[in-house]
Amino acid sequence: MASTSSPSSSSGRVPSSILIIGGGVFGLSTAWALCNNPDFKDTSITLIDRLPFPTTDGSSIDASRIIRPDYAAAPYAKLAAIAQEKWRTDFAPEHYHQTGLCVTAAGPEQKYVSASLANVQALGVDKVEVLQSSEDIKRVCGLEATGPTGAGNVGYVNWSSGWANAEGGMRWLRKKLEALNRVNFVVGKVASLAIDHQTSSISGATLSDSTHITADLTILAAGAWSASLLDLRGICKATGQALCYMPISASEESTLSTRPTLLNLSNGLFMIPPANGLLKVARHGHGYTNPTTIRHPESEDPNATITVSLPYTHIDDPNLTVPVEAHRSCRDFLANIHPSLAIPSRPFTQSKICWYTDTRDGDFLISYHPKYKGLFVATGGSGHGYKFLPVIGECIVNCVMGRTPEDFKERWAWPQQRVPEEQWSGDGSRGGPVGMVLKEELGKGRRANL
Ligand SMILES: Cc1cc2nc3c(=O)[nH]c(=O)nc-3n(C[C@H](O)[C@H](O)[C@H](O)COP(=O)(O)OP(=O)(O)OC[C@H]3O[C@@H](n4cnc5c(N)ncnc54)[C@H](O)[C@@H]3O)c2cc1C
Repeated sequence: MASTSSPSSSSGRVPSSILIIGGGVFGLSTAWALCNNPDFKDTSITLIDRLPFPTTDGSSIDASRIIRPDYAAAPYAKLAAIAQEKWRTDFAPEHYHQTGLCVTAAGPEQKYVSASLANVQALGVDKVEVLQSSEDIKRVCGLEATGPTGAGNVGYVNWSSGWANAEGGMRWLRKKLEALNRVNFVVGKVASLAIDHQTSSISGATLSDSTHITADLTILAAGAWSASLLDLRGICKATGQALCYMPISASEESTLSTRPTLLNLSNGLFMIPPANGLLKVARHGHGYTNPTTIRHPESEDPNATITVSLPYTHIDDPNLTVPVEAHRSCRDFLANIHPSLAIPSRPFTQSKICWYTDTRDGDFLISYHPKYKGLFVATGGSGHGYKFLPVIGECIVNCVMGRTPEDFKERWAWPQQRVPEEQWSGDGSRGGPVGMVLKEELGKGRRANL
């Protein structure tokens, strides 16, 4: 683990001012935890986001997110179970739907499925059914068919997993936070961190309109954009994931909305039960990179540049849709499981690319920066951070105070070395194509012919 310092351990005092950059799951939950922690009662808290809430292209805002303790890594399974209990009871329960999760595979990803099953059973979840064939999967998910690129061959269903209305959960927390009247919410784009190269310290941030916000402690929680403000090469990278939406009728919704989410880890494709007249089909995959050359965020040389993968969203291009290959994969998946919905007269009417902040092994990055005093980084959601909304802020604040949960000391620490991205192993949960570059795929066309 790289050497890190905390304000409590190094200076023996709680920061008098904290700037949180980013109002997604990591930033918002941190602000909430700070407000609820008496140690920070005299600390001024500012949360800045580049867009007004809700940030429509942020990872935390969408129709739905899976809430599951179904993890191959036991520490996340345990933490997710704690978060899930809050979703069930006192954390936006009206946005949580416990319709089950069916995790399947048809190849080497079975390893993840087996490890996840073992962890869920170790947690004492008894509403689990092991599925030995695609027919079993078809039965529990109420599928019309089990085509070869659809449901997978083996897996299990955890009837006590569920999903949440992601935007609903975020709105719920934001409202609670606003009601406290403690956080200064600012809309503005951070152009750079305020780095003092002499002292290797950060004293806040400079915005794109050249104004400064000073702070004792800056918490970088800018999700997939974090790599535009700090050199995270070999540590974090943005990968774009495809989502497609189809309008469905009220009667279709009432039938499908009681079914479990189906997640086939071998091709990464999944279908979440519909809500508000929309069915979502998406891919939890290796994603697209978007290599972008930017000014080196940490260099004193104004001409120094680095190339990193950064998000490209509908804010950058209002006409952005998913590339043909993603559209085709989602369609094909639907045709394999619900052929009646995949007929030409039933197109996907919306699509989007949503950005994961991937790390090399799928662990979050929640740590002081090893070089800059006054800088803490809370990111690396790696496509699975949403479910932790009720608890991740408290974990982050504990890490800020030098009390990283034992199970996560190694996992969330600043990596000892930067590892070339092509050598990243991931957490074993991703399926589908590898090595795609967004602009190349978009260049091949944005819509498949139906
Ligand atoms: C398609 C998709 C599906 C997913 N599915 C699941 C799931 O089923 N279950 C689950 O648990 N998790 C899931 N996740 C992961 C989860 O949504 C993310 O881990 C989580 O939302 C990340 O939160 P964040 O705060 O890091 O990022 P974000 O929500 O993206 O927040 C970062 C914020 O920083 C702001 N920002 C960026 N740059 C600047 C700047 N320069 N100045 C000011 N503000 C800035 C952005 O505007 C943004 O609001 C999924 C993610 C995606 C993309």
